[in-house]
Amino acid sequence: MKGFAMLAPNEVGFTEKDRPALCAKDALVRPLAVSPCTSDIHTVYEGALGDRHDMILGHEAVGVIVEVGAEVKDFKPGDRVIVPAITPDWGAERSQAGFPMHSGGMLAGWKFSNFKDGVFADVFHVNDADANLALLPDWLAPEHAVMLCDMATTGLHGAELADIGFGHSVAVIGIGAVGLMALQGAALRGAGHIYAVGSRPISVKVAQAFGANTIVNYKEGPIAEQILKLTNGEGVDRVIIAGGTTKTLGQAIEMVKPGGIVSTVNYYSGADYLEIPREAWGAGMAHKQIRGGLTPGGRLRMEQLLDMVESGRLRIAELVTHVFHGMEHLPEALELMHDKPKDLIKPVVLIDEDAK
Ligand code: NDP
Ligand code: ZN
Repeated sequence: MKGFAMLAPNEVGFTEKDRPALCAKDALVRPLAVSPCTSDIHTVYEGALGDRHDMILGHEAVGVIVEVGAEVKDFKPGDRVIVPAITPDWGAERSQAGFPMHSGGMLAGWKFSNFKDGVFADVFHVNDADANLALLPDWLAPEHAVMLCDMATTGLHGAELADIGFGHSVAVIGIGAVGLMALQGAALRGAGHIYAVGSRPISVKVAQAFGANTIVNYKEGPIAEQILKLTNGEGVDRVIIAGGTTKTLGQAIEMVKPGGIVSTVNYYSGADYLEIPREAWGAGMAHKQIRGGLTPGGRLRMEQLLDMVESGRLRIAELVTHVFHGMEHLPEALELMHDKPKDLIKPVVLIDEDAK
């Protein structure tokens, strides 16, 4: 089978591989819609996962089931499914401890394009199919549904980690697809004033539509200074980091109030250590918490997100700015994620239902 892979650091291309093997609880899925992630860029071009060779990329897909293992009860070939980016081993002990995304080891719930071949392939493998897949309903277009696999769950997790309450002032740093979902999460949880940090015009427009009250452009000066000035030196109750650099964590600590929370779903690359500004952190005594996490995956999470979209409470269609038809456009779509042109939030590649 064919797949679009990280051939080596800084090098991508199509590759040929054997079709994945199937165990009793697993499924094989053929993609209908896939989307490249900023994480694929960190992986290929920034060495964030270290050396990887001939690894098929991609972890955002909806598709059609081709084959299921003998013990899969709820899904059959032909079913259209949403495949979460994070597919935990639900029987592992860490799942019972409340962190299924780390079942099998730290970050090990993130399998696609990390520990095994990803979804940019003719066919890909899904572990624990009954616990990880969700049926794709007819009312949701595949190019929109694919925003649930990672972007929606991750952004909302940023708002969950921040534990936003009614009236909290919130700064969302980064308003790409993840940050825009975090921003919606903050609004849904009853945030008071929302400050959104970004610069791309399309992101700014969607951020305002999703409830941002004030836009802060990081290109116009240090963001902590800008937000402290806007809040009369007080800072904000909560910060969600969904973009930026290795300096961003420190800036978030500077802008959050004592007793506040800095939540981060960003994937840091480019340095071995992240800095905490001693004074702004109250020399360790300011009760400023830092909470970072890999997004939850699994079937229930996908079904809950579907309910939010169906009820009209979660908007995802605005994230999709570029749609391609055919696997051959994957290199172009990935390059868009690399370049981040002004009119881009997320590209989606559709693969025809009858394509093989
Ligand atoms: P994007 O690149 O689309 O968005 C990044 C945002 O950060 C943009 O708004 C960008 O502004 C802004 N930004 C860039 N530089 C700075 C800076 N110096 N200071 C402040 N803001 C800045 O990324 P995504 O939304 O796709 O993903 C966000 C992050 O989430 C990535 O690191 C990704 O790997 C990670 N991620 C984490 C997951 C998890 O499970 N925790 C899952 C999925 C993704 P501009 O408008 O100028 O582009
Ligand atoms: Zn991702």
